[in-house]
Amino acid sequence: QATQSDSNKSTKITIVGGGLVGSLAALHLGKRGYEVHLYEYRDDIRKSQLVAGRSINLALSARGRRALTEVGLEDVLLDHGIPMRGRMLHDIKGRTTFVPYDRNTNQCIYSVGRKHLNEILLTATENYPNVHLHFNHKLMTAKLKHGELNFVNPNTRETFQVNTDLVIGCDGAYSAIRKHMLQHHGFDYSQTYIEHGYIELCIPSNNNEFAMPPNYLHIWPRGKFMMIALPNQDKTWTVTLFMPFKNFEKLKSSQDILLFFEEHFADAVPLIGERRLIEDFAKTKPQHLVSVKCHPYHIDAKVLLMGDAAHAMVPFFGQGMNAGFEDCTLLSQILDKYGDDFKAALSEFSETRWENAHTICDLAMYNYIEMRDLVTRLSFRIRKSVDDFLFWIMPTKWMPLYNSVSFSHMPYKKCLENRKWQDNILNRTIATLTGTLIATLVYGCFVYIKNSSII
Ligand code: FAD
Repeated sequence: QATQSDSNKSTKITIVGGGLVGSLAALHLGKRGYEVHLYEYRDDIRKSQLVAGRSINLALSARGRRALTEVGLEDVLLDHGIPMRGRMLHDIKGRTTFVPYDRNTNQCIYSVGRKHLNEILLTATENYPNVHLHFNHKLMTAKLKHGELNFVNPNTRETFQVNTDLVIGCDGAYSAIRKHMLQHHGFDYSQTYIEHGYIELCIPSNNNEFAMPPNYLHIWPRGKFMMIALPNQDKTWTVTLFMPFKNFEKLKSSQDILLFFEEHFADAVPLIGERRLIEDFAKTKPQHLVSVKCHPYHIDAKVLLMGDAAHAMVPFFGQGMNAGFEDCTLLSQILDKYGDDFKAALSEFSETRWENAHTICDLAMYNYIEMRDLVTRLSFRIRKSVDDFLFWIMPTKWMPLYNSVSFSHMPYKKCLENRKWQDNILNRTIATLTGTLIATLVYGCFVYIKNSSII
């Protein structure tokens, strides 16, 4: 008897982009039995030394972990990942304060290497003979409704035409597939660049040991800008400085760079090393950060966007990859529901996903202010303690925002709604307490004055 997996073999799916989300999507769809062809612009990263461009390591949390579990890879990756149990805040004098992510159940996020993760995902596709990888294929043009895609080999300039039943655009924040979708009526799109850019630096290992306590996400919050550091498997740290472009432009000479670091991140200077700091800073150009919202994510049963192509976000909630991985979980769940009927499934994918994706894009913007500024304020710490306490006594009812986003699978929109009613309750409680206090004081004064006048 033919299985669902057998009948899927006749559907040809083409994934454009073999980054984190494209390679995980290939695994999810390969597991369902589809004939999957993955086309990636770059060479096979398993053969290259370094990946140019974006962040070297990433924070993996619950949503990403679940999608990896579904293809049997969570344990492999967690063995390599480094747990980060909370934020380690560095103040201007170099004093540190630990702020745990989850005081009650001790959940943590994991620092994983982007290259390692991508390599594991690509290698795992070899378990599926129905998944085919094509490197050095850059998508140039497409007739999406006809399933016609045209690629070029960036090295030889050779061109290839591919015909497919379904194309999935996993080609990142500057997606070529999404650009082609712009020509279709009813496709909404907006992008926002923030005025801040980022550069990556490195804290080397110290006698083959971590130069700072490893199980934390280290943050140097400085109000209008911040620096963070995530641990790597080789005992080094990837340090990322996020700052307005206009501030980067002021740092022209070696002396400017050194003075700036001495003033704002003095405790990090000896860890990075003066010479290395100046060299690395000078050879790096600050990178842009873009947030992308669009809707719907599909056209008929022909095209689907996933990952950054659908919802690129600024990196401050550590959710870009996790949300992209969750797209894979969601697509699998919806395909199960509709018995692999793509027409119904893609439509439901768009409808279920877009509001959640837009919400996490907004939350990621908000979290930059929390990380670079609010964490240093007393009001933030009091709120966090209240949240932690209420979460402790009502674990199913009062889940703080960070926990629901990073340690649960609650839809992002629901996470934000929760936060809003929690704010509401706390604001009303504070207003009632303040009102009662004022009333008591007024009454006390009144009694005092009355008694004084009798005497
Ligand atoms: P990408 O990783 O961008 O992959 C797209 C792939 O498509 C690439 O391999 C590219 O070569 C290929 N491609 C592009 N154009 C074409 C074309 N025309 N033809 C063929 N192939 C093409 N997320 C987290 O969850 N946690 C974090 O801690 C975190 N930290 C981050 C820190 C920084 C500084 C940044 C910038 C991002 C961070 N992110 C984080 C977000 C995360 O990097 C992205 O969400 C994730 O990489 C998205 O994966 P993707 O596969 O959709 O896109």
